[in-house]
Amino acid sequence: MQVSRRSALIQGAAPFRMLFEYFDTSGYQERRHEPGVLDLTFGDPHEMQMPAYVEALQDATVPRDELWFAYKQSERPAQEAAAESLRRVVPLDWTADNLRMTTGGFGAITVAMKAVADPGDEVVFTLPPWFLYEGLALEAGLVAVKVPALRPSFDLDLDGISAAITPRTRVVIVNTPNNPSGRIYPASLLAALAELLEDASRRIGHRIWLISDEPYNRIVFDGATLRSPAEFYPWTLLCYSYGKTLLAPGQRIGYIAVPPGLPGAEVLMEAIDTLQIAGGWLFPNAVLQHALPRLEELSLDVPALQAKRDRMVSALRELGYRVAVPEGTFYLWPESPVPDDEAFTRVLADLGVLVLPGRLFETPGWFRICLTATMETIEQSLPRFAEAIRRATSETARD
Ligand code: PLP
Repeated sequence: MQVSRRSALIQGAAPFRMLFEYFDTSGYQERRHEPGVLDLTFGDPHEMQMPAYVEALQDATVPRDELWFAYKQSERPAQEAAAESLRRVVPLDWTADNLRMTTGGFGAITVAMKAVADPGDEVVFTLPPWFLYEGLALEAGLVAVKVPALRPSFDLDLDGISAAITPRTRVVIVNTPNNPSGRIYPASLLAALAELLEDASRRIGHRIWLISDEPYNRIVFDGATLRSPAEFYPWTLLCYSYGKTLLAPGQRIGYIAVPPGLPGAEVLMEAIDTLQIAGGWLFPNAVLQHALPRLEELSLDVPALQAKRDRMVSALRELGYRVAVPEGTFYLWPESPVPDDEAFTRVLADLGVLVLPGRLFETPGWFRICLTATMETIEQSLPRFAEAIRRATSETARD
């Protein structure tokens, strides 16, 4: 069977190919449901959804008028609720007009890229990335340009980004708080990035857009303040997903927000509306939008997540792992105790703990742990992490 060149290109791109190879070779799909196996891979829920979430959806399925389930673009009450809560997270004067509801973060990022970049244009992002940046860029006909983050802070490498900018650059993607490093980029770094993009836009003769991918912007720890790139650089498309805060990634809803006061924003919003239709009706469904004002009041338990982070970080450090304290998200990004992160994650898998090797993030030597598992699962995993570092380091010492 011959599939399209576009599909083959996307399937052959590094993150997709490696993710599917990993599923095939690690036995992940079968093992994750085996009794006794602890799955710390992806940000899926491990417990029943909170009743208030279910009630909000149930209520939203009851039609109030004959158009309740009609074709929907962005629904005004949903936009208003989203704008109101965004004002609390990112202190700009967001209104409903600044937002377009999307099918989660995926939908937001793909439409944002297509709204400002043309086929052949380049999109710069930092390694380790979210798996799908490259796939979505390729699907939009764009070229992915990757810049490794600084070590060991995993901050943006501004010199690297500057060197990666060419006359074809249209978009730079920034993800804060960052998956997988858990890093929140400081204001000084974002201000310097804004200056860099301003200078580079002038130099290459057209505007470089910033896509600020912020699905974790409400999952921050220790009372940290998130600073959004949108506060520093007006040519920002802020992409949000409710899938993380509500731990319901299968319910596809999010938005693109364009900073208030951006010159020419109406034209951009029209482009977004058009692309959402032409992209295959990339608007979230009616029920999720009706439920949104109530969903906006809900969140996963961030203090409980922070307690899991604290337990895992201190236990891993005691065992000899090197791991930074994530400032947000639900991931840990420890250094692999041996250089071969895949070999190490195989040792962990043999012990019944599934995590993702750094190679899947094009960043060998590290691995990712997801903390959406229960505290009980995390406790059960700790003796296995102890055994894994013992086995891996003694095997390396023998080699
Ligand atoms: N961006 C980042 C950094 C993510 O981690 C994810 C999901 O894992 C997404 C975007 C996409 O979010 P959603 O699946 O809710 O659309």
